[in-house]
Amino acid sequence: MSFEYLQGEVIGKGQCVACGACVGICPKKDMIEMGPDAPRLVDECIECGLCYKACPRVTPWTWSGDAPLGPMLAAYAARTTDLELRGQAQDGGVASALASLALERGAGVLAIDRDGWRAVPRRFTDRLPPGGSVFCHVPLLHLLFGTKEPTWVIGLPCHTRGARTLAELPATRRRIGLIIGLLCSKTFDHDAMWALLEEQGAEQETAERMAITRGRMVVEGKSTVDVHVKELAPVARGCFKICDDFAARDADIALGGVDSPDGWTTVIVRTEAGKEAFDALVSSGAVDVVPITDLPIATKLTTLKAKKACNDP
Ligand SMILES: Cc1cc2nc3c(=O)[nH]c(=O)nc-3n(C[C@H](O)[C@H](O)[C@H](O)COP(=O)(O)OP(=O)(O)OC[C@H]3O[C@@H](n4cnc5c(N)ncnc54)[C@H](O)[C@@H]3O)c2cc1C
Ligand code: SF4
Ligand code: SF4
Ligand code: SF4
Repeated sequence: MSFEYLQGEVIGKGQCVACGACVGICPKKDMIEMGPDAPRLVDECIECGLCYKACPRVTPWTWSGDAPLGPMLAAYAARTTDLELRGQAQDGGVASALASLALERGAGVLAIDRDGWRAVPRRFTDRLPPGGSVFCHVPLLHLLFGTKEPTWVIGLPCHTRGARTLAELPATRRRIGLIIGLLCSKTFDHDAMWALLEEQGAEQETAERMAITRGRMVVEGKSTVDVHVKELAPVARGCFKICDDFAARDADIALGGVDSPDGWTTVIVRTEAGKEAFDALVSSGAVDVVPITDLPIATKLTTLKAKKACNDP
């Protein structure tokens, strides 16, 4: 089986979400080039079929309405007790606290770095990824190509689903450590989004924080600018139209802002591996936690997104 199958069944049909898993698993260096929106074959394929097996979009998820938020062992509102991390965090800094635990345990962390407000994929081994959210998408999993040490992955649902397929395949199983997902409704094209925000008075150079809250994108900096997310529709990345996952169902731990107070992260612990890592943060005093029993906004958003992508009436 060759790359042509991926080209025909996924990429050519507009089903690729640019996670990078196919490049991450390909045994040959520089065989596939990862572009911003899809991979491209650039050398002669040896037809091992691994990229096809690793692609999470070969079999898109079918919405059944059961357990819309996905597997859940426990849920919390949590925040880091490290005031420096908290100062840079999007919500409660739990993603950063987990990244810190990964480095302490000798694992790498695959996450985004920042070039100003531009997201740049990076595998971190000696420093933490910067805190805060960038509302644009970049492929991540191609950076797992040829890695030997286990890597914890922090990414959007498209990344976490690709990471889960890699974690289940013998060729890449050992490369993947904990999978940490960030809830996601949609992302935006970097240049077009900033052009629109700058028309409204935002400044990319001086902006310090961006958030989407109560239906508005808020840019805080020298001045604070906020725009209704509906106005950002023309600059949205088209992937949300085919994406069926808001809540990072395949992650070990999913993190978001909804359903928790400002300054706290909503934590959905999904697997035993996730539980072990999160419990370690709690017992070391790295995070404060309050259990949550109800996640109404996350449930609503995940249901809406899945029904839309799966064309459920
Ligand atoms: C594009 C996007 C859309 C989101 N949409 C929602 C939403 O609709 N509802 C909701 O409740 N939560 C959403 N989130 C999650 C939320 O913004 C926080 O990321 C989450 O609550 C964790 O916060 P924290 O303070 O624990 O993370 P922090 O400790 O601040 O760490 C943030 C981590 O996010 C990673 N990151 C930042 N931007 C990206 C990116 N573009 N792609 C991959 N990784 C990234 C960084 O590498 C870092 O590791 C979204 C996040 C992103 C990036
Ligand atoms: S993973 Fe295998 S089938 Fe896919 S492009 Fe690489 S060599 Fe070809
Ligand atoms: S593995 Fe990811 S990047 Fe590769 S074709 Fe599938 S969805 Fe696209
Ligand atoms: S909507 Fe979010 S999770 Fe889905 S493919 Fe786009 S960036 Fe990834």
